[in-house]
Amino acid sequence: MFSEELEKISWEETTKSIYAKTDADVRRALAKSRLNVDDFMALISPAAAPYLETMAQLSQKYTLERFGKTMSMFIPLYITNSCTNSCVYCGFHVSNPMKRTILTYEEIENEYKAIKKLGPFENLLIVTGENPAKAGVDYIAKALDIAKPYFSNLKIEVMPLKAEEYKYLTEHGLNGVICFQETYNKANYNIYHPRGMKSNFEWRVNGFDRMGQAGVHSIGMGVLIGLEEWRTDVTMMAYHLRYLQKNYWRTKYSVNFPRMRPSENGGFQPNVVMTDKELAQLTFAMRIFDHDVDISFSTREPAYIRDNMATLGVTTMSAESKTEPGGYFSYPQTLEQFHVSDDRTTAEIDATLKKMGREPVWKDWDDILN
Ligand code: SF4
Repeated sequence: MFSEELEKISWEETTKSIYAKTDADVRRALAKSRLNVDDFMALISPAAAPYLETMAQLSQKYTLERFGKTMSMFIPLYITNSCTNSCVYCGFHVSNPMKRTILTYEEIENEYKAIKKLGPFENLLIVTGENPAKAGVDYIAKALDIAKPYFSNLKIEVMPLKAEEYKYLTEHGLNGVICFQETYNKANYNIYHPRGMKSNFEWRVNGFDRMGQAGVHSIGMGVLIGLEEWRTDVTMMAYHLRYLQKNYWRTKYSVNFPRMRPSENGGFQPNVVMTDKELAQLTFAMRIFDHDVDISFSTREPAYIRDNMATLGVTTMSAESKTEPGGYFSYPQTLEQFHVSDDRTTAEIDATLKKMGREPVWKDWDDILN
């Protein structure tokens, strides 16, 4: 399990090592075609800042080689905002006295129909909070069943499950799972996740092993930028990615590093701010480190960043996302989890990508391949 590997890596030493990287370390990493995590640390370090242009060119080259000019398009659907966790940065946390919604199966189907009117989406990401008693595995399985006639690629972003539960959901059409570790800083993890199942660091970080054991085809990982030193957090994610690739080599991987946005929670301010330039540096570094991994940018990022990065390393994007349950068919009484930055319509995003020479891909999987 990855938690055992993580015990061997010191957060403090890793941070020191990143900040000690030199110009020579960066040049050495850029000269390699197969990079290790130490090289990745050089590319995300402050020492690599003067090499942004070189990194952009390399990132673009590797992306074109592996993905061509395609951009895989997906849309998230929040089917409930009911949650028993208390993540301090999230508007859906249990202590927020807001109205909770668990969409009925009829409402879920209405959402599917409404999404299909927005654009030719085939990649659907079903999202829930964590309330297994009221919106558990059977509820998610039913949502997948209903989705099958509408979408060809079904992913979930829900609470970490047991391996047998992931397996059970694959029998209901599940193709991929996305889970955010949020932060790999175990010492501080419970500051942000004080109560509920999510406060169990090991259960969450080992969830990726359970996905691999269950034979989930696609695994998405992510850290939330704004909690801890971002360079160290993404380095831990790079270690995790390599570990998973070695142990579950049939699986396809994607990474995501959203920057924190204000939530309905009102209070929580990011501890760490990542600039646009640093986000670009990280994206290029990730592509140079791993030529095959999908790099996903959601609508949390503003349009100008998404457009700029669309030709330089990003391979997956969401469009016209609503983060409140019922948001597509429109149930205005519900609150959103966070505000989106890129609020363009699907058609506008499609047109912009085409203008930039990208080919938006709506369908890149079929259930028959499961
Ligand atoms: S981040 Fe997820 S688990 Fe945490 S409070 Fe929000 S919905 Fe619940």
